[in-house]
Amino acid sequence: MTHILIVEDEPRLRQDLGDFLELRGFDVTTAATAQDMRAALADGPPPAVIILDVGLPDGNGFDLAMEIRQSQDCRIIMLTAFGDSADRVRGYDSGADIYLVKHSTLREIEAAIRSLLRRTGSLSGPADGGKGWVLDKADWAAIAPDGTALKLTATEFAFLSLLCKRPGEICARDEIVKALARPGGHFDNRHLDAVVSRLRRKFARAANLSSAIKVVYGVGYTFTADIAVK
Ligand code: CA
Repeated sequence: MTHILIVEDEPRLRQDLGDFLELRGFDVTTAATAQDMRAALADGPPPAVIILDVGLPDGNGFDLAMEIRQSQDCRIIMLTAFGDSADRVRGYDSGADIYLVKHSTLREIEAAIRSLLRRTGSLSGPADGGKGWVLDKADWAAIAPDGTALKLTATEFAFLSLLCKRPGEICARDEIVKALARPGGHFDNRHLDAVVSRLRRKFARAANLSSAIKVVYGVGYTFTADIAVK
């Protein structure tokens, strides 16, 4: 399996990105500091790609990229909150293959990884990690990759439809709450939490795939597996 090392000190981003890439079929190691990264490189399996945060508590990504280049034969995706061109140039000068800003979607980051792996010819496994889900509009059902059909309530269906419109992107809670509220009815964050936990239980019971609906803390939700609407 293709191994990815994520070096990021922000815990939620590290966790979200790690979970997402694992679901997409990669083998993932995470490190929160430059020191953790050095330990992972010394003891762990060699990564095909390192996703490197520019601002770490004990080092900066520009210096680390140069350091990695001296000992590792891998690709580097630099991840930063800053998007100005001087930083991008500095990123490429220090040895990054791709420079991404932090508001890139999880899918964009995955696409960048796959593009690098194709260039080096080290992509293993199917590009899409196998069969995906189908949202059945006629029957209000979600069909799991193994063919199991899960009946959905109107609200569950509306929720999944919203997520499907932007696969791999995060749908903001406020936006979902607004879209799911019916005229004259009351729907708030607590109702949304209830809908999501019911759906996740339903998915877990039927297909053991509860984590396909991913919570992005403080932001919203995303559906991390492939899903098509029919
Ligand atoms: Ca950081």
